[in-house]
Amino acid sequence: MTKQNLKGLDRDELTAFFAGLNEPAFRARQLFRWMYGRAAQNFAEITDFAKPLRARLQELATLETLALETRQLSQRRDAEKFLFRLADGVHIESVLMRDGAPGRASRHTLCISSQVGCPVDCKFCATGLMGLLRNLRSGEIVDQVLQAKQLSGSKALAGSPITNVVVMGMGEPMLNYDALIKACSLLSDAEGPNLAQRRIVISTSGLVPKIERFTKEGHKFRLAISLNATTDEVRNQIMPINRKYPIAPLLQAAREYTRQSKQRVTFEYILLDGINDSLADADRLKTLTRNIPCKINLIPYNPIAKPHPDGRSQSAAGLETLLAYRRPSFERIEAFLACMREGPNTVTLRWSKGDDIDAACGQLWTKVEKKSNGVEI
Ligand code: SAH
Ligand code: SF4
Repeated sequence: MTKQNLKGLDRDELTAFFAGLNEPAFRARQLFRWMYGRAAQNFAEITDFAKPLRARLQELATLETLALETRQLSQRRDAEKFLFRLADGVHIESVLMRDGAPGRASRHTLCISSQVGCPVDCKFCATGLMGLLRNLRSGEIVDQVLQAKQLSGSKALAGSPITNVVVMGMGEPMLNYDALIKACSLLSDAEGPNLAQRRIVISTSGLVPKIERFTKEGHKFRLAISLNATTDEVRNQIMPINRKYPIAPLLQAAREYTRQSKQRVTFEYILLDGINDSLADADRLKTLTRNIPCKINLIPYNPIAKPHPDGRSQSAAGLETLLAYRRPSFERIEAFLACMREGPNTVTLRWSKGDDIDAACGQLWTKVEKKSNGVEI
């Protein structure tokens, strides 16, 4: 008999599980607190349960936990990448980043994955090169936070509570919508990790129907959209998903989100030398976003290292880069930024952390065990 994995279940599902064992409903609440609030990894830890109940649970169920395979700390000690192995042997990565001056109240943001690989096929992204292996389950999404919390107590980013979560790791979160929203709800539960909903950011390549659904459901998690180009011609080239959901309907969905949620949306804009980084692009970007309450986050392209034959990606430094793209010169980036700053919206330039350990935006890549074909987006 296969054991039932309880990690990822919500209160109602846990209540139904305990009802099936003829146990009272309050057991569900106890387990919820242990599993999500205190990151219990097995039933033996749950001292609120009498021994016979613990033994019975051990027989019937598991609290599936991600196994840490490796961890790598960046030279500046402001980013740490965790490589996790899932129960079926595939791998995902999560990255913990620290912002703020040493000694001052700092922000600790965990960048989590939503899928193993990604089917969206953006031409500048290492995860995209993997294709999709599978969706993550809600328990696997939540467990990245629970494990990172435990692990961060024992090394350089020590003792730091995780204050923010961004779903900007491997995968397209909106293609794993139900599991993702369930996981985010568990992460923001007061009896779980208790992260404020506004401190969880979901980043999407722009699946319009899913953005509309997200808006309609009225979630308080924040939304970021990877815009990355100012014309359909360029966006079609670098993000093939644009052929299905072009810029105009995407911006319309973004505008509607801001109108109904009364929140700003974030637009991410990767800067690719000679492709989308001209002053004409900056002008168009200002015009396109003029009537949308938003923040614009410029991300200079991070080169993608060639995956090593043993499955690990090598550091990009000094290696032939896998893709033909280049990061623009500092002067071009500054000029783009200066032009954007003349517009009405907040603009920030984000130098990704952890590029020396291939932990920066778009650099997450793990060994591809198998690749699925013909994934429907
Ligand atoms: N799939 C989602 C979230 C993961 S990608 C999305 O696309 O939004 C997170 C961010 O990394 C996106 O904004 C994407 O445009 C950016 N990105 C991907 N590859 C990159 C690279 N090589 N350099 C810089 N940013 C990159
Ligand atoms: Fe997928 Fe995002 Fe990478 Fe595009 S940028 S391939 S959507 S992970």
